[in-house]
Amino acid sequence: HKITIAIDGFSGTGKSSTAKKVAGELGYTYIDSGAMYRATTLYFLEQDVSLDDASQVEHALDTLDIRFEEGHVLLNGQDVSNEIRTMRVNEHVSAVSTIAVVRHAMVAQQQKIGKGKGIVMDGRDIGTVVFPDAELKVFMTANTRIRAERRQSELAEKGIIEELNVIENNLSQRDEIDSTRSESPLRKAEDAVEIDTSNLTFADQVHKIVSLAKE
Ligand code: C5P
Repeated sequence: HKITIAIDGFSGTGKSSTAKKVAGELGYTYIDSGAMYRATTLYFLEQDVSLDDASQVEHALDTLDIRFEEGHVLLNGQDVSNEIRTMRVNEHVSAVSTIAVVRHAMVAQQQKIGKGKGIVMDGRDIGTVVFPDAELKVFMTANTRIRAERRQSELAEKGIIEELNVIENNLSQRDEIDSTRSESPLRKAEDAVEIDTSNLTFADQVHKIVSLAKE
C-alpha cells in the first residue's frame, strides 16, 4: 500500500535530489515544496511586492498560479525551473517564507496536491504542518561546508557559477531565518528519523529511505 513520505531538513542537505530518486524507485509522485516558495518569491520580485504591505501580498497570492509539469515548475504558465534557483531568489526566499499568509496558501495547495497518497514531499514543515500524519518522516542534516559544495555543483550543472563562500553564507542565513521564524519554524518532527548525510553517498541516502518506506 502507498504511503506519504515527508522529508524535511536544512537547505542543501540533498533533500530534493534524494526525494526525487526515492519517489522514482517507489513509483511515487515527488513534490518539491521549496520550489513553490521559490516561485512565489520570484513572482513577488517581478511584481515588486513590498513584503510588509498585507494587501499587496494578498493580491499577489491571488494572482499567482504554480504548477508542476513533468519535473518543470510553471509560474502562471511560464517555465521558471531555472530562474527559481538563482542567487537573487535564494536571497529573498526565506523572508517571503516567514509571511503567515504565504505559508497558509502554500500549505493548502500542498495538501491538495498530496491527497490520495503515494507521494514524497520535501521541505521544512512537511512532517510537522503539511502532513503531520505521514507514515514516514525523515529529517536530513549535513555539515554546512559539505552542503555548500553540493549546492555549488548543482548550480554548476545548470551553468550557474557561484563562489563557495557566497553559497555557504546564504545557506547559514536561510537556516537561521527558517529555524527562528514564528510561523512553523523548521524543526524535526518528534517521530521523524534523523539522517546525517555528511558522510553518506547519494545511493546510501536513497537506499536508507527506500528501506524505511518498505518496512
Ligand atoms: O528547499 P529549498 O532550499 O529549495 O527551499 C527554499 C526556501 O523555501 C527555504 O530556505 C525556506 O525558507 C523555504 N521553504 C519553507 N518551507 C518549505 C519549503 C521551503 O519555508 N516547506
